[in-house]
Amino acid sequence: MAFESLADKLQNVFKNLRGKGRLTEADVKTALKEVKMALLEADVSFKVVKQFISSVQERAVGQDVLTSLTPGQMVIKIVNEELVKLMGSETTEIALKPQNEITVIMMIGLQGAGKTTTTAKLAGKFKAKGRNPLLAACDIYRPAAIKQLQVNGEKVGVPVFSMGENNSPVNIAKAAVEHAKKEGCNLVFLDTAGRLQIDEAMMEELVQIKEAVHVDQTILVVDAMTGQDAVNVAGSFNDKIGVDGVILTKLDGDTRGGAALSIRSVTGRPILYVGMGEKLSDLEQFYPDRMASRILG
Ligand code: GDP
Repeated sequence: MAFESLADKLQNVFKNLRGKGRLTEADVKTALKEVKMALLEADVSFKVVKQFISSVQERAVGQDVLTSLTPGQMVIKIVNEELVKLMGSETTEIALKPQNEITVIMMIGLQGAGKTTTTAKLAGKFKAKGRNPLLAACDIYRPAAIKQLQVNGEKVGVPVFSMGENNSPVNIAKAAVEHAKKEGCNLVFLDTAGRLQIDEAMMEELVQIKEAVHVDQTILVVDAMTGQDAVNVAGSFNDKIGVDGVILTKLDGDTRGGAALSIRSVTGRPILYVGMGEKLSDLEQFYPDRMASRILG
């Protein structure tokens, strides 16, 4: 289960706080030190942890807490509120154009992050909401990518536009948008190529696609299991390509949770959805408050 260790540790800290009738400033300090350790061990980035603790501390050592009837509860409430704030407070929806116009969404990410699977999941979700999506197979490098998209597209009932492997991703993207116009599709997902790591050629190709077609939303898919690497990857993609939102996959796994807690604060970009499994229905909208409750138990 994701966040298990972090949740356990925080719950322990809070158990101690709850048991105390009155809190001294030293009690709060000790508790926050433990919260800090727990967050660092969960692979939350150091800068984010530092800021987080100082925000909580500022509020927690104020008179409100020290004179409050249940000071322990008050500290827990503050930690909860600050966690929600850290993850962006509000749920962010993907901005779509009106139904009579075509919205183009470019899906990007490193190989293995779950991009192709997530693209099909997302297309299925929007189809269920009454959109008419089209999946475009722009990953011409990974041998099974086109086939995988076709199989997944069929499962979610969304057509796939492909020109095989012998055409450039830029041409495929342009032709896909034309195809969407002809077929009356109003939501095009460009499934772009991933690489094992960020490289210049990959970035250049994404820039070229963005120059050739009007991309309305660029969505980055990152693997939560990779912790701070996921956050670094998000930072690089955002700097070089521009990212509108992030989808965090594999949150059903044994992730320590650092990526979920750091991405928003480090990149300034919201988490839109989280992947909760391999099935095409396993994609959930991201609610910062629900995530915080999960972490705090
Ligand atoms: P891509 O290379 O980024 O396109 O990655 P794929 O879509 O091929 O996914 C890589 C692997 O991760 C596949 O085995 C997927 O089934 C798996 N995967 C994707 N999303 C999730 C998720 O949210 N949870 C789990 N457990 N597995 C996932």
